[in-house]
Amino acid sequence: MHSFSYLRVVDASGALAVDPEHAAFIAGGTCLVDLMRLGVMTPDSVVDLTALPYRDIVLNEQGASIGALVKNSTLADHPMIVARYPALAQALAAGASPQLRNMASLGGNLMQRTRCSYFRNDFPRCNKQRPGSGCAALDGENRRHAVLGGSDHCIAVHPSDMCVALVAYEAVVHTVGKRGERSIPIGEFHLVPGEHPEKETALEPGELVTRVSLPAEPFFARASYVKVRDRASYDFALTSVAAALDVKGDTIKSARVALGGVGTKPWRSLEAESALVGKSSTTASFTAAANAAFAAARPQKDNAYKVELGRRTLVRALEEAART
Ligand code: SF4
Repeated sequence: MHSFSYLRVVDASGALAVDPEHAAFIAGGTCLVDLMRLGVMTPDSVVDLTALPYRDIVLNEQGASIGALVKNSTLADHPMIVARYPALAQALAAGASPQLRNMASLGGNLMQRTRCSYFRNDFPRCNKQRPGSGCAALDGENRRHAVLGGSDHCIAVHPSDMCVALVAYEAVVHTVGKRGERSIPIGEFHLVPGEHPEKETALEPGELVTRVSLPAEPFFARASYVKVRDRASYDFALTSVAAALDVKGDTIKSARVALGGVGTKPWRSLEAESALVGKSSTTASFTAAANAAFAAARPQKDNAYKVELGRRTLVRALEEAART
């Protein structure tokens, strides 16, 4: 393993003082340590954030505010998160293993990197690791890759479950950086690869995630997260859906739909949401929304199955949301 120095900071100013070109922030370490062992990430210094104070969970009439260092397991089990944002609790509980959830933080989960095997094995042809080198997945093995949001430069899937629920719930990511504090809507936080797959988030170098907030929409409690994976015990999503429905009588007044396992970023489907509004809460409406969600899908040679699987996952998530 590449040798590195270790620095423990006790406040945000300490974290912002490090040279971001040569340092990496660490909290739970469940992604970073993995990638350092594989030689994919080689920071000269690792900056430990765990002494920072971002560990609170506040719920009130404005919504929720969750500190960046809150553990995934703590958030998944919080009774008010379970009651008011059930798709978030379900997504967290569906991610990784209990041991990893006990270590992984909210901020670290937001920053998760792709599971593309070419990337993780430091393959010579990977634009994300070596800009301009090409993308081995395009003409190689791509069963688990994206069908939405890809480019001719990268088709890697974003791996997070939690972020899919955050997108459905219209979260806002709050940060602090050298130029002060910022609030970034979750839909603008993760980037599609375009010509620059090496740029994965809207964060500036050295910018620190401090907390995430969620709006207080009563219908967000009528929601579901459904995940389909090869192995039920512990695996990343082949397809997943976070869905919330606002239904009055039998008519859908509003909907939120986000897709996981199929996009290069946690994928909000405005097409599915538009297809649902004003329709009756029936399987026929849900199927039409699912068709709309995947109308622009661009499958590769090994992953066309994700289009039909994604549609069925979406129908099931909407049926479950409607029953809550
Ligand atoms: Fe690299 Fe992206 Fe291609 Fe995977 S899909 S090999 S991460 S450029």
